[in-house]
Amino acid sequence: MEKYYQPEIECASRKQIRAWQDERLVRQVRHAYDSVPYYRHLMEEQGVTPDDIQSANDLHKLPFTYKKDLRDTYPYGLFAVPMKDIVRLHASSGTTGKQIVVGYTLEDLDIWDTIVARQLVAAGATEEDKVHISYGYGLFTGGLGLHGGATKLGATVIPASSGNTARQITILKDFGSTILCCTPSYADYIGETLQEMGISPDELSLKAGIFGAEAWSEEMRRDIEKKLGIKAYNIYGLTEIMGPGVAYECSAQDGMHVNEDHFIVEIIDPETGEVLPDGQQGELVFSCITRQAFPLLRYRTRDIGAIHRGTCSCGRTFVKMSKPMGRTDDMLIIRGVNVFPSQIETVLLNHGYPANYQIIVDRVKSTDTLDVHVEMTPEMFTDNMGEIARRQKELVEGLRSLLGLAAQVTLVAPKSIVRSEGKAVRVIDKRKI
Ligand code: ADP
Ligand code: ZN
Repeated sequence: MEKYYQPEIECASRKQIRAWQDERLVRQVRHAYDSVPYYRHLMEEQGVTPDDIQSANDLHKLPFTYKKDLRDTYPYGLFAVPMKDIVRLHASSGTTGKQIVVGYTLEDLDIWDTIVARQLVAAGATEEDKVHISYGYGLFTGGLGLHGGATKLGATVIPASSGNTARQITILKDFGSTILCCTPSYADYIGETLQEMGISPDELSLKAGIFGAEAWSEEMRRDIEKKLGIKAYNIYGLTEIMGPGVAYECSAQDGMHVNEDHFIVEIIDPETGEVLPDGQQGELVFSCITRQAFPLLRYRTRDIGAIHRGTCSCGRTFVKMSKPMGRTDDMLIIRGVNVFPSQIETVLLNHGYPANYQIIVDRVKSTDTLDVHVEMTPEMFTDNMGEIARRQKELVEGLRSLLGLAAQVTLVAPKSIVRSEGKAVRVIDKRKI
């Protein structure tokens, strides 16, 4: 039986969801216009006033906002309430460029906790569970985001934070953690360390994991599920919009429900800005319709995905977004071909390699080169050069057939690629150095 944290909201009729969105968007636009001079200016430039926004149908009239807007107004220029009402600051983890800062009121935090609690319940958690949080704590939203949701649910929080993997495993074992929350690459690392320590997942009490903050493939999901003996759920979010929990996965494990009572999602053509029909792949754009401190509207995430409406086997009625392939910033253009690291990951894992790889891009004599360094498992490891050459060739063929691109593959020794405790750094683009 599917469990919900708030069935009356998560399974509301589409008509009801629409009514919430209409009312909240109208109020939010007014709030942003009245409280943030920068916003008022953006809207004036576009020739719109709050009166032009009568329902969610009018969303497309609003200007887009970009990371640049957050940088230009750094640190507090987009805050819509006085500082005395701000109870928390977070900053993006700075994966790409200068960090940005966002603020939360007490009510904003309560909404955030609520949407994360929805994810926990969708993953099967109850107040009986011990939620082990190995996302980093601090300005990064991962740790405190999951922390707030698990506390709100009434579960027992284990605020392990990231790092010191052997100790994580002792805690998992001794404290009887039942739900693990971290990045997928760290979950994989924890699984690998378990194997090395000769601990079987049966010796742990884990039943589910909530993993996000970076792109990961279905193959990686299966790998983690096997290594840890759990069901692995994907969670999506970004600091600018809230943090983890903007969208959450259900028992169907096939895309994430967007918390549409708080966010409106659109998919647009990143080149033209035109709104695309459901099912079509494009850039995810979010509008926060309830957030008080930071009322970001039509924010261009640069994440690439698609949205799907229709009934979900779990009974939830929120629209679903596909797992993002990655962000446009991560997309590599190699000799004119678009390549996402997650596509390369799919090929590697399908051939039985671990998710420990690095993609090195360079330009030699004005031609782009793509070199994929991938670790052999200890079982594969050999000094037989013929065998290594055969394996490399096999992967080159696999990459060629999926990407339509000639890549170079270098097999490296087990444990030679540095492990990630947070977001993995998969790409080294020497063309940009
Ligand atoms: P930074 O931009 O510095 O990494 P954030 O911690 O706010 O800061 O990261 C948000 C970004 O992380 C998203 O825009 C997206 O690119 C990525 N992300 C978050 N969750 C997922 C997920 N489940 N799948 C793929 N990418 C994700
Ligand atoms: Zn569902």
